[in-house]
Amino acid sequence: MPIYEFWCGSCERKITIIQHKISPASHSCPNCGNDRIERIYSPFAIRKTDKQVYQEIRSDYQFERALKRNDPKAIAQWVERTSRGGEIPEECRETVGKLAKGEWPMKEGKPSESE
Ligand SMILES: [Zn+2]
Repeated sequence: MPIYEFWCGSCERKITIIQHKISPASHSCPNCGNDRIERIYSPFAIRKTDKQVYQEIRSDYQFERALKRNDPKAIAQWVERTSRGGEIPEECRETVGKLAKGEWPMKEGKPSESE
């Protein structure tokens, strides 16, 4: 079952949505209703069971700290660590590459504040 991860800026936490197909416009934070959640590309989520993912998220303080510090390089390191040194999916490679250079790929396509 595909697992999609989002970041809610209001709750400052990661949201995991398990679903067959996903339409970014139709999702909101289950905790606070914020509809401007941002997709997180997380290689490990694709290959693990729900329980493993849940456990990993719970022990994921380094990832959360990296997000709060606005530190793309730390997130890239986290992705590389969780992917066990390889097999980063095609769709994630560019994202991780940008993060490693200190860029924020996930802000592209973010809804503008004026909407
Ligand atoms: Zn929220």
